[in-house]
Amino acid sequence: MVHIDDYRPIVGDSVLDELMMLSAHLRGRRVQHINSTAVGGGVAEILTRMVPLLNQLGVETRWDVIRGDERFFATTKKFHNGLHGIPVDISDAEFNAFLEVDRENAAAMTFDDIVFVHDPQPIALVEERELRGGRWLWRCHIDFSRPVKNVWTFLEKYIARYDSAVFSAPAFARSLSIPQALISPSIDPLSDKNRALPEGTIDEVFRRFSIDRSRPVVTQISRFDYLKDPLGVIKAYKLVKKHLDVQLVLAGGGATDDPEGPAVMQTVREEAEKDKDIIVLFLPPSSDIEINALQRGSTIVLQKSLREGFGLTVAEALWKGRPTIASAVGGIPLQIAHKYSGILTHSIEGTAFWIKQLLHEPAFAQRLGANGHEHIKHNYLITRHIRDYLLLFLSLFHDGDVVDLSAGASSTVTRG
Ligand code: UDP
Repeated sequence: MVHIDDYRPIVGDSVLDELMMLSAHLRGRRVQHINSTAVGGGVAEILTRMVPLLNQLGVETRWDVIRGDERFFATTKKFHNGLHGIPVDISDAEFNAFLEVDRENAAAMTFDDIVFVHDPQPIALVEERELRGGRWLWRCHIDFSRPVKNVWTFLEKYIARYDSAVFSAPAFARSLSIPQALISPSIDPLSDKNRALPEGTIDEVFRRFSIDRSRPVVTQISRFDYLKDPLGVIKAYKLVKKHLDVQLVLAGGGATDDPEGPAVMQTVREEAEKDKDIIVLFLPPSSDIEINALQRGSTIVLQKSLREGFGLTVAEALWKGRPTIASAVGGIPLQIAHKYSGILTHSIEGTAFWIKQLLHEPAFAQRLGANGHEHIKHNYLITRHIRDYLLLFLSLFHDGDVVDLSAGASSTVTRG
């Protein structure tokens, strides 16, 4: 079990001391996070690490996961795609069934002083606030700057009932009737996913998955989701493969709140079958050491998403000093300054071009990775994220209109 003091050697005493000071002001307040999956995807990843640390800091925190049936998650996946700007058809019956599931969940739940609801799936729990009290926050991990109308019209009514909304990047925000906090996600440098690993462990994982470490390895780790563009990755790889001997690893699992995963995985498998240097790995939950080893042992890490929230996999790769090529979408440009801390691309051809380029110029690739590591260390570690949340929680109990968190590079609060 990691202790909050274990972060001192990484981020320094002043960061830890500030967390202690801020959390002391929240003693006696209870915080409750609510989302819709305990495993898979970035939200679960962060809560798993953050909830115990907040408790260690003396802020009593729990995490609840709502339940839903297949139809519910099919509808919420449509919300997800719709918020990303993809047209989706949702019937009144589907909207009503969605509400019914949230109401059933609400009836079975108790709520704490600060109710921190993540993403659209549990959004309608807020119907209970008048009756049950508390301060309510809605955290959207998705880029919803250009949502489709039907999804937006439906969700907006619920968003307006929260005290504040939280987004991952300035570009994600929309004009809202409630205050908005811009707080980027983070990675935990001490988790199994990110901690330093012995070379022997990395070798063992590559051997187990039959990946040849003596040849270049290009890897994308993602849920199998069309928006992560695994088929585009395969096309880019094929363009490179005409010139260079390289292997491609596509590794990932699913999330219990994403019903599209198995179909995407099947299509990718079929594409990959034709080439023995494309290695498709289905990773069960709790594959953290495997993911860590795959990221550390890869020559280049890709994240060729078509749409993205923040893109935690990018932060994970950069933290490991890996040369990283990723699409300029969602929160990825916050993490990568093009040709300084990684490479930003906009197409299959561009991705292929830069894979070749970095394989030809290992010293340049190395430098990108080293700069990326520093950038993540200063901006996207869990300690910064906890600090921003503590400030946000405190702001809920103040009367002032605007709370300025701008001392943190990636966080400000403005009235929407
Ligand atoms: N991840 C995982 N197993 C998988 C695929 C992804 O543990 O099979 C992790 C990945 O390492 C990262 C998170 O899930 O920590 C994905 O977050 P990201 O923001 O990249 O994408 P999301 O899945 O939330 O869209």
